[in-house]
Amino acid sequence: MKTEHVYIHFPFCVSKCPYCDFFSIPFNDPGIHKKYIGYLLKEVANYNEITGHLKSLYIGGGTPSLMHPDLLEKILSSFSFYPECEVTIEVNPATADFNKLRSFKDLGANRISIGTQSFISSDLKTLGRSHDANDIYECYENARKAGFENISIDLIIGIPGQTPASVQFNATEAVNIAPEHISTYILTFYDHTPFYKKLERAEIFKHDDDTEMDFFDLTSEILEKYCYKKYEISNYSKPGKESIHNSNTWNFGSYLGLGAAAHSFFGKTRWENPRSIENWYYSVVNCRKAYKETQSDTVSLKNEFIMLGLRRTDGLNTGYYRAFFGSDIMEDYKVSLNKYLNNKILVKNGECIRFDQKKIGIFNSVVSDIIL
Ligand code: SF4
Repeated sequence: MKTEHVYIHFPFCVSKCPYCDFFSIPFNDPGIHKKYIGYLLKEVANYNEITGHLKSLYIGGGTPSLMHPDLLEKILSSFSFYPECEVTIEVNPATADFNKLRSFKDLGANRISIGTQSFISSDLKTLGRSHDANDIYECYENARKAGFENISIDLIIGIPGQTPASVQFNATEAVNIAPEHISTYILTFYDHTPFYKKLERAEIFKHDDDTEMDFFDLTSEILEKYCYKKYEISNYSKPGKESIHNSNTWNFGSYLGLGAAAHSFFGKTRWENPRSIENWYYSVVNCRKAYKETQSDTVSLKNEFIMLGLRRTDGLNTGYYRAFFGSDIMEDYKVSLNKYLNNKILVKNGECIRFDQKKIGIFNSVVSDIIL
């Protein structure tokens, strides 16, 4: 068995956004980037025996658009690809000019994900982002000129100070620039971040859960009105432009995560690379001996299958569950699934069990109740 999906983590950023929980370091030094990619190529070689032709390669971060195109070329030349492979690179609007985007495109990237967050400069300032609204429009235009026909943007919902009008403006601007894919996330205040400390000191405020849901629903309504199909709880696309990489994860497919702090899922094992560059270097030269196995017991995997599957608008596939685990989901989760099917919060259609999208606001409490 070989995996056809790879994630690469590039952990360097211009500066650290105060809400960010990703493993990222504010360090824009080309020499360090080069050293990091050198180790990454060694890690690619460590996994040669389980890496097949790729159907998706996702380079995330951090800020991969800080990378010199020569380094991207080295990464891409270390894999083989199916002709239709989706090759995504995340781009921070302040770090990619036309020439760089053109180079990325020429080298083989065919999809970019622009870290938009909001089209309002004051929101971006609140978030501590290194770009403003003009940078987004410029980056988007440059990406189209460079030849990208598949662009994703993401929007954050629940930014302190947001109002229904500003949420509406962001969703409308997203529709107006017309990317192929839009992701929306509710802002999380992680407890070790500067944002959380500010919240504790009452220097910023968090919207209550109902307001966040209202903003989420308002965004959803606008995106769907303009023909973006919601295919996952937070993701919308134009027809045929669903993210191959993310869909594989939600469908419980295997993937290899390379780079510091990257996660992998292969066979029936999940593991996580060290969340430190030096420890990851050590892990790579010792042929991945230092990775941390995070989850491989069957109950955890079954729970995760349900959680990921129900996030999809089409729902989870009971046949795939049977093939993967060798048991029947309706037996394993008999009481709780029947409860939510009977009260019509879940709907069963052939082999699929999905959420009634009108009830998606109670997703977290329902899923917590279902899983073992
Ligand atoms: S640019 Fe992205 S990865 Fe980097 S600090 Fe900001 S949110 Fe985190």
